[in-house]
Amino acid sequence: MTVQFSFDNSYARLGAGFHQPVAPTPVAEPGLILLNRGLCAELGLDAEALDGPLGAEILSGNRLPEGAEPIAAAYAGHQFGNFVPQLGDGRAILLGEIVAPDGRRFDLQLKGSGPTAFSRSGDGRAALGPVLREYLVSEAMAALGIATTRALAATRTGEPVLRESVLPGAVLARIASSHVRVGTFQFHAARGDREALRRLADHVIARHDSEIAGGSDPYRAFFEAVCARQARLVARWMATGFVHGVMNTDNTSIAGETIDYGPCAFLDAYDPDAVFSSIDRGGRYRYANQPGIARWNLARLAECLLPLFDADDDKAVAIAEDGLRGFAEVFEAAHLEAFRAKIGLATQEPEDATLIEDLFAVMARAKADFTLTFRRLGAVADGSDPDAALREGFGDRASLEDREAFSAWTERWRTRLQRDASDPAEIRAGMDRVNPALIPRNHLVETALGAAASGDLGPFLRLNAALAAPFTERPDQADLAARPPERETPYRTFCGT
Ligand code: AMP
Ligand code: MG
Ligand code: MG
Repeated sequence: MTVQFSFDNSYARLGAGFHQPVAPTPVAEPGLILLNRGLCAELGLDAEALDGPLGAEILSGNRLPEGAEPIAAAYAGHQFGNFVPQLGDGRAILLGEIVAPDGRRFDLQLKGSGPTAFSRSGDGRAALGPVLREYLVSEAMAALGIATTRALAATRTGEPVLRESVLPGAVLARIASSHVRVGTFQFHAARGDREALRRLADHVIARHDSEIAGGSDPYRAFFEAVCARQARLVARWMATGFVHGVMNTDNTSIAGETIDYGPCAFLDAYDPDAVFSSIDRGGRYRYANQPGIARWNLARLAECLLPLFDADDDKAVAIAEDGLRGFAEVFEAAHLEAFRAKIGLATQEPEDATLIEDLFAVMARAKADFTLTFRRLGAVADGSDPDAALREGFGDRASLEDREAFSAWTERWRTRLQRDASDPAEIRAGMDRVNPALIPRNHLVETALGAAASGDLGPFLRLNAALAAPFTERPDQADLAARPPERETPYRTFCGT
């Protein structure tokens, strides 16, 4: 039996200098943990054929599907602000590009599939916990409508991986519109290879921005498009309380997708300074810093593209600056639009930004739950449960002062809503479409992965299934939507191991 993959490997065709050929290292006992059947359908893959031992063989890297050209991609990157001229796929192997039935093109990559030329001292493997974490969170992001790499399958390897302790090994089969990053451009720029930069730019333009390919200023238009995608992406992160945690330039996708779920986490209590990653000691990648960091990363991309922008240095720099201004404009607009929708506003008034800022201030002081406060504002808007946001979002720990501050804000907001003159039921429905009831809450992810580590996949599968419909509330999922229990120590994440 075989499974058909309609591969067309355009990145592999870029040739030497862009990647190193490498076959996945076979694993002892591949076993499918979970196959994403919905995604199979989108990609035109035969889920029936993949959902079994053959799928486990293919999706663990033990058997190469016909047409695959496995490679490890070369890239560089700024990690926490420090430039590393060579990183590359150290534990990921690109099998090829699948052309979906609708014509869209997607990378199929195996993560944890063995060493490559870029592994340095790493083993090229991944542990079960981080693989399941990426599966769960990336699929939740997709269901939340946020651009992201996707999880096609998680496979156990039957081999141990040695970290601080011995852990079960796993492979994630990951789908992305492409894995080209800002760091891919930096790799060639650092080597002064202008020809490679041009070929890379032409490759991604053809892939992601084909409409600008024939235009008069394609590299400028390309940079503007990348800036706009990042701006919209980070605005969506902010509106969902997502903290990426490791916004290095090698984790900044040219396609504008969320990539690298190593240390990410979601806000429970609203805190603009929230940091979860154990290695982010300076808070470089804290919640409120994400737009500024995205802009910084795009400035690094602009530096790589300067020679393509214009032969005249001053003109090239002006194009870069224009693009970065465009980022700020698109971000501000997308951010305001997202939060207007979250508080049910359909029209625009100049004071809306202040109204939203003031809500942030009240929430921060009260440590209100980000997700529940916005979700429950819906029941305040339609009058069905006027205390819902205060009761569930703020909780009984909120001080009298915090409660009064929120009530005062609610009054201002109600007055503003009345000027929108929409029907309360409609306002509520619109808010419920943008304010999720369910997110992959940190304590739920922790519990699910803990159970999986001891052999019980039940909580992981339940959470994963629930997160496929994050805007729907169900009584039997009330525990997944509730405020998390008080923690004794702050939640900490670790870069994917
Ligand atoms: P990340 O922090 O996940 O973006 O990874 C940074 C770099 O470290 C990339 O080049 C990865 O491929 C590499 N890397 C991370 N973990 C491993 C591992 N277990 N074996 C080999 N390379 C790794
Ligand atoms: Mg990475
Ligand atoms: Mg990582």
